[in-house]
Amino acid sequence: MNKIPLVNLGLNYMRLRDEILSIFDELSKKGAYVLTEEVRRFEKNFAEYCGTKYAIGVANGGEALFLSLKALGVGPGDEVITVPNTFIATAWAIIAAGARPVFVDVREDFNINPLLIEKAITSKTKAIIPVHFTGRPAEMDPILDIAKKYNLHIIEDAAQAIGAEYKGKRTGTFGVLNCFSLHPLKNLHVHGDGGVITTDSQEYYELLLKLRNNGLKNRDECEIWGFNSRLDGIQAAIADLKLKHIDQWNRRYIEIAEKYIVELSPLVSVPTQESHIKSVYHRFMIRTERRNALQQFLQEAHIESKAHYPIPLHLQECAKNLGYKRGSFPVAERLSDTILSIPLYSELTDDQANYVIEQIKNFFNNQ
Ligand SMILES: *Cc1c(COP(=O)(O)O)cnc(C)c1O
Repeated sequence: MNKIPLVNLGLNYMRLRDEILSIFDELSKKGAYVLTEEVRRFEKNFAEYCGTKYAIGVANGGEALFLSLKALGVGPGDEVITVPNTFIATAWAIIAAGARPVFVDVREDFNINPLLIEKAITSKTKAIIPVHFTGRPAEMDPILDIAKKYNLHIIEDAAQAIGAEYKGKRTGTFGVLNCFSLHPLKNLHVHGDGGVITTDSQEYYELLLKLRNNGLKNRDECEIWGFNSRLDGIQAAIADLKLKHIDQWNRRYIEIAEKYIVELSPLVSVPTQESHIKSVYHRFMIRTERRNALQQFLQEAHIESKAHYPIPLHLQECAKNLGYKRGSFPVAERLSDTILSIPLYSELTDDQANYVIEQIKNFFNNQ
């Protein structure tokens, strides 16, 4: 068996190669690179896909979060609640806006524990960023109730969760502004960096169009200080093409995940399935006390696996001055020590998935 990587981007490219090459060719011939009609078309289709009025293409998922915080006026002196077991961008976006990240521990489902949020709210709290980690929607109803009670903004970090649903509603529709990443490792990705913000608010939509493009109102007039954080035309055209396929790809993610769940649940902890939650399994994470040994064993069987992430954010060196310590978030810490992501992408074959299952079984049965 050839090596099974955690993701295989080349296979995804080969599926759409001719169409992607012609996008590159046509836009290059036109010299259409920045804020082209392709960007507007993708934004329209992406908003429609999620079920919001507007979408704004930006440079990447981290900046989608940063620009959302800026648009909401979150800055110095403010606090923003999020989780410690996420990609670092969720937190740097808060720091870059000048605010302070306040972490809340998660549940065994990897997502923010709604029961712990109120304790973290202070007079400085302005927003909550729930992360739909691994492509599994956070428990949104109680989070929305708390946000309403304390008059806080919700910004979804849906970077991993395009197409996922909570009670039949797609991610990207719950917060006032919601953020997606089109990074190559996400289920819907471009050939480089990209991000999207979704919203129903015309006011924030118009503000974000300026914020992402130097603050410019039009070619010559600048109302506000802005940033340069645009989604390229070529990337937007590629994203628009892939958007047509994302449901089919996500179905395959779910199909393989369900096979993993059935076969591996006697041996390791697997994601629980709940009827009101539709995960798109951006990552398939198993949990075992013998994580490091299993990872080593799989590597010898030419199966790539990784921990996402082995160090929770509150224990990162850059977060030292936030004042947390080991023990601050016991569930997130335990997850960091026991999680392992195994290969899952829509091009993974049944034979490959079976081989992954067989090797994990071998590990537990033979030692
Ligand atoms: C990938 C990711 C981001 C950042 O997206 P980029 O496009 O890489 O900037 C933010 N949050 C989460 C949870 C992510 O997985």
